[in-house]
Amino acid sequence: MYAHAQTVIQWMEQLAPKSMAVPDDRIGLQLGTLNKKVSRVLVALDVTEEVVDEAIRLEAELIIAHHAIIYRPLPHLQTDTPAGKLMEKLIKHDIAVYISHTNYDVAPGGMNDLMADRLRLTEVKVLEKLQQEPLQKLVVFVPVSHADSVRMAILDAGAGHIGAYSHCSFSQPGTGTFQPQEGTNPFIGESGKLESVEEVRIETIVPQSRRSRVLQAMFKAHPYEEVAYDLYPLDLEGTAYGLGRVGKLPAPVTLQACAEQVKKAFDVPHVRVVGSPEREVKKIAVLGGSGSRYVRHALFHGADVLVTGDIDYHTAHDALAAGLAIIDPGHNAEKMMKEDVASRLQQAADKHGVKTVFHASSVNTEPFQFM
Ligand SMILES: [Zn+2]
Repeated sequence: MYAHAQTVIQWMEQLAPKSMAVPDDRIGLQLGTLNKKVSRVLVALDVTEEVVDEAIRLEAELIIAHHAIIYRPLPHLQTDTPAGKLMEKLIKHDIAVYISHTNYDVAPGGMNDLMADRLRLTEVKVLEKLQQEPLQKLVVFVPVSHADSVRMAILDAGAGHIGAYSHCSFSQPGTGTFQPQEGTNPFIGESGKLESVEEVRIETIVPQSRRSRVLQAMFKAHPYEEVAYDLYPLDLEGTAYGLGRVGKLPAPVTLQACAEQVKKAFDVPHVRVVGSPEREVKKIAVLGGSGSRYVRHALFHGADVLVTGDIDYHTAHDALAAGLAIIDPGHNAEKMMKEDVASRLQQAADKHGVKTVFHASSVNTEPFQFM
């Protein structure tokens, strides 16, 4: 049994929800259809002709890539241009192309977390906050007999996370009253008679994204026909989502040593470095792709060095003048997403008992040569 392409994309969107993408980013299905089963899926950074040939060779029906194949309005599809030829080939071989770009960068565990992890950063924070998840307080009243099972159901569904703690809740006993009206089928009491019951007030915290899952679990575990519960908006800071990360190295190193670490961790042969090789580096800002725009964010967070690609001459001068070092491993350092996405999707497929195989593309799409 092979997975349906739509199911594969559901797994992908659990890793990188579409709602996390920056506005107007070109993400999602860009070519072909997801209305088919897929035996092989190729994960790539860029969709080049060599990558398409690799997909054909592997007999893959779907490519999941980081960089879009259509990013400006497409004025025509002329098959004698490189882009047109590429799309013609994909269509002829019935290979769909799905893009997960800034949503994968932003997502917890995505590109930027992966880079921070590879550099073994600690106390990791978001470099540029784009979204903050609203939090709500959930209060539910449960008869004593069912307090434990309802509490576990809502906490297991993702309520009650505070910092590094899960399953946080507070319970208080009390008395609930109700009078079942005509036509009801009460769990306790009888129609038309006022009842008072020993109940437990359970309260906990719920992030917006888990709200419907938590409420569903609560309704399922609760014995009452009509569940008495409240949801209050909270004036608290929820989890911040955004681009780039900033964190501390396990121990201070020189910029020179840090550059060597970046080369190793990102598997790149060269880096361009701005700043004195002897200067000490403790705090690192890292951002996958093009990070020229993030010099001031790195300075704001007190970073000693910004690790990012596509740094231009004038940005390098600005950073140097402001006392910020830069290590540029190139935009292609993002290639680390291939193994990460392929292995996490493979795990999902294995868990669901389907035979679909995920391949990390072995094509090197670095366009620059160092001579
Ligand atoms: Zn990129």
